[in-house]
Amino acid sequence: MIINLFKKPTEKCPRCLGKGFVDNNDIERLNKRLEWAPGKCAYCNGKGKVHIQTISNVPVNLSYLTVERPKIERWKLLLGNKNAKKKAEIYQENIKNFINDIVKQYFVINLDFETIADLHFARFKKKEVSIKERKEFLEYIEKVVELNRGKFEKKTTDNS
Ligand SMILES: [Zn+2]
Repeated sequence: MIINLFKKPTEKCPRCLGKGFVDNNDIERLNKRLEWAPGKCAYCNGKGKVHIQTISNVPVNLSYLTVERPKIERWKLLLGNKNAKKKAEIYQENIKNFINDIVKQYFVINLDFETIADLHFARFKKKEVSIKERKEFLEYIEKVVELNRGKFEKKTTDNS
């Protein structure tokens, strides 16, 4: 369906609920705590309203659609461009695998945060990792572990 870009959007943005920016409550509601940070809403481009076609074209919780993407790429997604959609799917899959890897390394293989970080940066062949980058990644691991702890601790209790 083609969006008439000259028509004013009429629907309240389902991602930010009309605020124009995504806050921690939205992130929680859409289950994106491991993927998004608060900021300007890419779904409505900060306007708070969207075209009705956008809602049928693009899932509201599509991970790839954030303001970090180039504007043209976001437009393509909102217009339902096939290549952009494919890219978004691959991105989503990669993130899922990335998180699952951390979960497995921590809860199944019992690696500590530092070792998981070592493996991460080795895999991406990063020769020079800044202290900040490493610290951010360690914090990310902590978040992943925190959000997945429930699933695994139950198992431990069952075994004892
Ligand atoms: Zn919005």
